[in-house]
Amino acid sequence: MHWIDLRSDTVTQPTVAMREAMMRAPVGDDVYGEDPSVNALQARLADDLGFQAGLFVPSGTQSNLIGLMAHCQRGDEYVVGMDAHTYKYEGGGAAVLGSIQPQPLVHAPDGTLPLDAMERAIKPIDPHFARTRLLCLENTWHGRALPLAYLADARTLCDRRGLSLHLDGARMFNAAVALRVAPREIARHFDSVSVCLSKGLGAPVGSVLLGTRELIESARRWRKVVGGGMRQAGMLAAAASFALDHHVARLADDHARAARIAEGLRGADGIHVVAQHTNMVFIDVPVERHDALRRALDDARIRVSIGYTPAIRLVTHLDVDDEGVERTVQALRAFAAG
Ligand SMILES: *Cc1c(COP(=O)(O)O)cnc(C)c1O
Repeated sequence: MHWIDLRSDTVTQPTVAMREAMMRAPVGDDVYGEDPSVNALQARLADDLGFQAGLFVPSGTQSNLIGLMAHCQRGDEYVVGMDAHTYKYEGGGAAVLGSIQPQPLVHAPDGTLPLDAMERAIKPIDPHFARTRLLCLENTWHGRALPLAYLADARTLCDRRGLSLHLDGARMFNAAVALRVAPREIARHFDSVSVCLSKGLGAPVGSVLLGTRELIESARRWRKVVGGGMRQAGMLAAAASFALDHHVARLADDHARAARIAEGLRGADGIHVVAQHTNMVFIDVPVERHDALRRALDDARIRVSIGYTPAIRLVTHLDVDDEGVERTVQALRAFAAG
């Protein structure tokens, strides 16, 4: 029996066709700006999402970090969600490496950061305070696509208060597919966007930061400083371009499969479906049953994420098919009945 790995959409294996595209990729030294496959990926995403320039980087963490460092100087502040990846799951990089102070806010249940709280968090210009420079949002957030009207309101607030607006769009393509809009309809509200190619899109490695030419030039400098300047990176960029060509529309299949898992668990004793949005399902099982759940899922050769987020998380992706979904539902229902 093969493993069904629902811990994250980062676990996907490059497909045979993707590996072939990687084999064929023309490459050059990207630190000199000479890798044609990297340049093509950056230009294409910038064009698709409505930005002047893009920068290919090894990870989403680095993309967010150098984006923040390009927006903010030492002693500046960025406003961010308490549970945002940038704040909570990136080792405090903006503070550690950028001398940028985070101002965390509590998320509303729909994943938005309430704009009145946001407004109250902006510091007066005064030597007592860090300079509030940037608002950072995350979309999708725990699988939820943020409403477009909220993004427009956040943009208006940032314009009025002279702040920049960054999106951690690790799963922005999932949001676009869920909302049935072109990705640029989300991206257009932001000064910079970071997108991951290595999540549901199925590339092995890589993120792209998008912004103005000036911002990206500054981020390119920081990328080198933090050790992210890669040489013949075109093979990775080719995988990312392949993912954009072939794996965007199919995200809808992942969303349907996550919905099927949520539906299949409805009414199961002792399993509470907390939420399901796009490719994520969150379930609650009483803590005293977690060890038993681990064992039951291990026996069924299923992996889920226990203990990483408050609820147990299941994420669908390229390597989870209908059979995998049914096996998961059956194993969880059997556990609930047992
Ligand atoms: C995965 C993820 C990142 C960072 O990606 P890495 O490539 O793992 O560094 C950033 N933000 C969010 C919301 C993510 O899910």
